[in-house]
Amino acid sequence: MHLPRPPSRPRPDLTPLAALFRGDPRDAFDVVEVYTGAPIAQVPRAGAADVAAAFGAARAAQHAWAERSVQDRLRVFRRFHRLVLKRHALISDVIQLETGKARRMAFEEMCDLPILTSHYLRHAERILRPVRHAGAVPGVTAALELRHPVGVVGVISPWNFPFAIAFCDAIPALIAGNAVVLKPDPHTPLSAALALSLLHEAGLPRDLVQLVCDDGPVTGPAVVEHADFVMFTGSLATGRRVAARAGERMVPSCLELGGKNPMIVLRDADLDEVVASAVLGVFGNTGQLCLHMERIYVEDDVYEEFRDRFVERVGRMRVAARYDFEAEMGALATPEHLARVAAHVEDAVARGARVLVGGRPRPDLGPTFYEPTVLEGVTEGMRVHREETFGPVVALYPFSDAEEAVRLANDSEYGLNASVWSTDPDAAMAIAAQLETGHVNINDSAPLGYATKSAPSGGAKSSGLGVRNGDQGLLKFTYPTTVATLKKQVMGPPEGTPYAAYAKRTLATLSWMRRLRLR
Ligand code: NAD
Repeated sequence: MHLPRPPSRPRPDLTPLAALFRGDPRDAFDVVEVYTGAPIAQVPRAGAADVAAAFGAARAAQHAWAERSVQDRLRVFRRFHRLVLKRHALISDVIQLETGKARRMAFEEMCDLPILTSHYLRHAERILRPVRHAGAVPGVTAALELRHPVGVVGVISPWNFPFAIAFCDAIPALIAGNAVVLKPDPHTPLSAALALSLLHEAGLPRDLVQLVCDDGPVTGPAVVEHADFVMFTGSLATGRRVAARAGERMVPSCLELGGKNPMIVLRDADLDEVVASAVLGVFGNTGQLCLHMERIYVEDDVYEEFRDRFVERVGRMRVAARYDFEAEMGALATPEHLARVAAHVEDAVARGARVLVGGRPRPDLGPTFYEPTVLEGVTEGMRVHREETFGPVVALYPFSDAEEAVRLANDSEYGLNASVWSTDPDAAMAIAAQLETGHVNINDSAPLGYATKSAPSGGAKSSGLGVRNGDQGLLKFTYPTTVATLKKQVMGPPEGTPYAAYAKRTLATLSWMRRLRLR
């Protein structure tokens, strides 16, 4: 079902946001409104010298920031949390303008940063405080683990969640005492700039976060060239290049990459719930979500029933260019991405797959709309079988038993997210434990695991290296210094003692230490 376009909302003033980017405003590139293709702002194009200057300014600001206590730094994020909730409508407007996603998804994206910030407001002091360790020789030695910020973190973020992903790592990096140079995707720089303007309003020192962007090949690699830590979210192809260069420079990197996420529906699942959740898990964010489901495996006995109910529901989805909550699905982000999604479906159909619903661009709704699409009969050799489509397209497959479901789900180079459905918690857990993936959501197909901010969120196999969220999502932006103190000199043989006698005594000591479980 397709809805009429409502009168457009008043356009926010985007000029102050564009002005937050480094570079000469006379050399700027256009950002467009996705629903119309019309330019909405001009953002300065940064060059290599601008990126170098951004790192210089960020580095200079970082020292004073790192000297402030964690509690003092957290005050800024407490105010930021309040500001994000207060300005939710403006945030959704800007996200929607430059991504074309449905309002519901823009709202949910906005919610991510307050959820994340709440978590670290509660836990950052505990995570960053020095940790005492038992010394190497009990009673005589002691050790203290200190955590230091790495320096300036380079954050490179994609267009699909331009507000949340730009800052979901930058916020813990800042809390840990670092500065940040952020390079958002050129299609969606304004959402990142809006988040930064709210941080400024909350009291973040002006130079601590620097924004750089271009619509060419310069700023991304330049950020990798200067950063003390590279935080990259994007495609596997770019991630490989970023990690290789960071490795050459011997700086740490964290990579959050793509997925080809499977959903497994057992015969005893509640199909009403599966169908409702699958609509969100497949078509939320127009399928442009690294965690969304692109493969649905359904047990033989209920395959046809699920297929018919799912297809009927997808056929009724409300797709529209609207700045209100009425549409269930919006547009794809760019014409190039629309072409990629359409090519995946055309390739599958040419090789014998069947389109059960959807399967067409919708230029009548806007330049980058594509129908929510369900495929059947997808086989090896079709692009949509293994490649990440990253659009509103899903393939249905039957399976005969749990072992086959696990084998099919794991048959991918990716391992980011999965969903398992059953009314038997033990059966679902047994499958979940065998999936080679960073997250599994039982009886939900939305990103429940990612939203659990105390737990690590990352990819297995080619879906990434390292994690965000949880204690590790903060600690990764620090390096440890272990300070060991000797209270009395006992190391090595005392003067005049033969080494053989010392060795014998050491062996005896190691033996009683194990028996007393001291080490
Ligand atoms: P992309 O790799 O093309 O671009 C990501 C970012 O990297 C952009 O800012 C881009 O300008 C920049 N970039 C491009 N070339 C670069 C280079 N040589 N050096 C440094 N930076 C460079 O990815 P995309 O197509 O924009 O994003 C979609 C992909 O991101 C999908 O694969 C999706 O699954 C993935 N993604 C993963 C997560 C996650 O958390 N795992 C989240 C969102 C998106």
